[in-house]
Parts: sequence; structure tokens; C-alpha cells
Amino acid sequence: MSKQKRIAMITSGGDAPGMNSAIRAITLKALSCNYQIIGYHGGYNGLIDENYTELGAHQVNDIIHRGGTIIKSARCPAMHTESGILQAANSLRKCHVDALIVIGGDGSFKGAEALSAHWSGQIIGIPGTIDNDINGTDATIGFYTAIDTALGCIDKIRDTAQAFERTFVVEVMGRDCGIIAMEAGLASGAEQIICKELIDDEQQFIAQLKQDVALSLAQDAAHSYVLVMAEHSLSISAQELAEQLSDFTGVDSRSAILGYVQRGGAPVAGDRILATQLGVEAVKQIELGNTGIMVGIENAQVTTTALSDTSDTQARNVNFVARLKEYRL
Ligand code: ATP
Repeated sequence: MSKQKRIAMITSGGDAPGMNSAIRAITLKALSCNYQIIGYHGGYNGLIDENYTELGAHQVNDIIHRGGTIIKSARCPAMHTESGILQAANSLRKCHVDALIVIGGDGSFKGAEALSAHWSGQIIGIPGTIDNDINGTDATIGFYTAIDTALGCIDKIRDTAQAFERTFVVEVMGRDCGIIAMEAGLASGAEQIICKELIDDEQQFIAQLKQDVALSLAQDAAHSYVLVMAEHSLSISAQELAEQLSDFTGVDSRSAILGYVQRGGAPVAGDRILATQLGVEAVKQIELGNTGIMVGIENAQVTTTALSDTSDTQARNVNFVARLKEYRL
């Protein structure tokens, strides 16, 4: 039998649908290994405040389908200070934690790396963010649900665009990553997808965009026209872009910002399965004695990536851009 260990976990950064599924998987797998398992509340804040709950099967048996996270998530500004990191490390020692599982995005993994300089326990990352902006996994937990949520909204907006003969600019989330826009745009048949990864020169891009929209509307005035735009992709807002399009084309253009709706809701099957696999794999890595890595799934294979390499997303973004260019019609 494995040596008895005490495992802690946090959900950190933006909440993502499927985090609860991961909490369930980690807990049930850990219990099956005869490990103790605790969940700190509110990301790194829980470490600093020593605010945690012992987890058992009864706490997690009924959560695989629920959005949010039962142990709460948060940003924790104190982790950007040396004293905050030291406090978090001390708290882990005080609670006799052997291993910490961090479910979050690349910021959360930077926090984990900072912690590892002051705490000798094992640290395993699980990619949990709707943004899908992490190297070392094809998808992050929450991404599939976020695309479906965005898609449902874009489809509805398309109906209105069709009925009113309007152009719509729909802004989706993603922080600095355009993958939600690319995938939701592809799935919704958006006429235009706007994200940083596709823009070299913003002025030129906007000028060309206006020409394309005007030409398309001139060819078929009754045609609905939807532009899916990643947040932070341009120096102007979705509303400003819509206003400029109205002025240029003479066709009424409106904007819709989907916002936090994309972070909520019941996780779709893809996120539940991914979360379950990664939760189990994280505990297996702890059994193996590994540390400083994130578990992911690439090409249907379980992979591990050094936490320090998880934010290097340049290569994987190239694949998303190539797919978009090949298949957008
Ligand atoms: P998401 O992208 O979904 O919001 P994330 O994990 O990238 O998830 P962040 O807000 O970037 O979200 O990071 C979450 C938390 O991780 C921060 O509030 C902070 O506590 C910690 N963190 C982020 N960057 C660092 C860093 N450089 N050093 C120490 N801790 C960090």
C-alpha cells in the first residue's frame, strides 16, 4: 500500500465549469489510495488564511455536474509578495501537507512555482481555465463548456441579426488568447473572427474588415453578418467597432459582450471527462513522487509538462490559427 500522504488542493484564478468534476476525481482517487485530502478555500487566499476543509466521499459524490467550485476560487494579490508566498508555505508545513494540487491557469502555476522555492512538498498542476491558453494540453478544463455557451449565445444573436438585417459584433472571453473566439467563430459560421493571433497591423486589419463587411452586405443586403471578437484583441471596444461599421456600411451594427456567462453553467461531457482523467492522473503523479509538473492530455495521451513551460503557448496557437484558416468558410 502507498505511504499515507496528506494532499491539499486549490482552485485558483477564474472559475471554470468542470472544476468540481476535478475536485471529485482527485478526492475519490486520493481516498482510494488511502490518502487524506483537504481543500483550501478561495485559491491561495485559503493557504494564507489557513482556511480549509477535510474532504470525504460524501462532499464530492454529487458535484460532477455542477458549475463553479465547492472550495471557491479567487485571485490572491498577496501571492505577488514575498511575505504572502512565505505565509502560504508556512501554512502548508503547519497543516502537514505532503502534496498540493493546483487547479487553475498559467497565473496559478506561476504562484505554484513561487511556492516551490519555499516549500519542499510535491506540487502538481491541473489546467483549469476557460481560456485554453496553457501549453501541454489540447484543452483546459472549462474550455469545452465555454465554447458551447458562447456558441448558444451567438446562434441566438444570429437569429436577431437575420430578422433585423443587422450586423453584430459579439465579444467573447479569453483574456489575451483568441482560442475561444476562433473555436466559437468556427462553430457558429461567423463571417469574421477577430483576435490578436490573426492581426499584424491593427489599422490595416480594421480597414480591410470594413471593406469586407461592406462588400458582403452590398452583395446580399438581407444577409446576417456576425463578427466574433476576442476580448482585448483591438485597441477599440466591440461597441466602438460596431459604430465604425455602421458609419462605414450604412447598415445598423450592434455589439454584444457575452462576459461572465461563459464561466458559468453545468460542465459539458468533454469537460467532465477531461477533469476526471486529469484529477486521477494528478494523484497518480503524487504516488510516483513527482513534482513541479502539470498533467494534460495531448492527442489522446496523458502528458506531463514542467510548470515553468506551461505559459509558452506560441507553438500551440499556431495550430489553432492554421485550423481556422483552413476550415473557416
Ligand atoms: P485564469 O486565466 O482562468 O483567470 P489564472 O490562474 O491565470 O486563471 P491569474 O489571476 O493570472 O489567473 O492567477 C491566479 C492567482 O495566481 C493570482 O491571483 C495570484 O494569487 C497567483 N499568481 C499569479 N501570477 C503569479 C506570480 N507571478 N507569482 C505568484 N503568484 C502568482
